[in-house]
Amino acid sequence: MSNVVSDLINDGVVAEAGLVGSDGGRPRTLIQVRGEFGHVVGVDIGETHVQIGLFDYTLQTLATATYSVAATRLEPEPVVRLVLAGVEEVVSAVGVETGALLGVGVGVPGAVQTGELVHAPTLGWSAVPLADMLRKELRVPVYLDNCARTLGQAEMWHGAGRGSRRAIVALLGVGVGAAVATASESFTGSFTGSFADMTSTTSTTSEWGHTVINVHGRPCRCGSRGCLEAYVGAEAILGDYLALPDAVPFEAGHTEARLAELVARAADGGSAAEVLDTVAEHLGIGIANLINLLSPDLVVLSGWAGQTLGPAILPAVREAVRRHALSYMYGQVRIEPGRFGQEAVALGAATLPVVQVLASGGVRAA
Ligand SMILES: [Zn+2]
Repeated sequence: MSNVVSDLINDGVVAEAGLVGSDGGRPRTLIQVRGEFGHVVGVDIGETHVQIGLFDYTLQTLATATYSVAATRLEPEPVVRLVLAGVEEVVSAVGVETGALLGVGVGVPGAVQTGELVHAPTLGWSAVPLADMLRKELRVPVYLDNCARTLGQAEMWHGAGRGSRRAIVALLGVGVGAAVATASESFTGSFTGSFADMTSTTSTTSEWGHTVINVHGRPCRCGSRGCLEAYVGAEAILGDYLALPDAVPFEAGHTEARLAELVARAADGGSAAEVLDTVAEHLGIGIANLINLLSPDLVVLSGWAGQTLGPAILPAVREAVRRHALSYMYGQVRIEPGRFGQEAVALGAATLPVVQVLASGGVRAA
């Protein structure tokens, strides 16, 4: 381990930051990541927005560009053009050359095959060679991963997940997903700050949104019925409200702004509040299932819709989970709002090139 660290120090990736006494053992050297080592870009390809963030090597945000997109079918080529425009916007805002980036990480709503091809049924994408399409234009390393996984990385490294042994990070948006992040014992305590979390977290994603919570329930866009996403996805929530006889049409045209309007209306009670109560119950059932299955110590409600809904529904969600989860499991879990909102997926995606450089001992990919 010390050889790896000295390589990283020599390459300017990390710096020594003093000593700490360990419990009975010899003092340990604290290592800090150096932000000035280089720049990375994180990209969130979502169903309501495409967001591009420029970060330093410690993942401090330097610039972001966000483009609203309609929650309808997105074609790969226009999405690539949006990403290229966004990268150009954030690097020129900070005065960095695109070619000098350590890499670009991209979070996508779907599965990534061999790190290259995107299968995203909700976007109508099948084996889209997104990494190659971006690499050809950007001429820097490009890494892809599922958006729930990149979101989970963001919350585990820098957000609400820090210190957790096993966390479930729920991504709430138009789609609903979850990342299960488990901290391994191996490196914890050897390093300080975000570096420890960077090297010690593994995560997997689940298609949590398509687990069934209602037998013979409403149709879901995946082709099944009664899926969680068909009840707590942002479009489903808005549709439930608008179907009520006393619903008032939204002023905003965009999904994200409409959900914020609904939450604001719910503060005055009425049918908006009833819709959110039902959302909390369904979400609580979905979370209780995860808790009974995986026994986490933390559940984080994240994603843009999680941030919008969280303050309004969190107490009711906790109460629903208490009623539906096994009591000894409920007793050992915390349910918390995410620390990041709309920017979480992009931030998490930016961890992909950071990890690659760390894993290669500070060597920049060609
Ligand atoms: Zn489904």
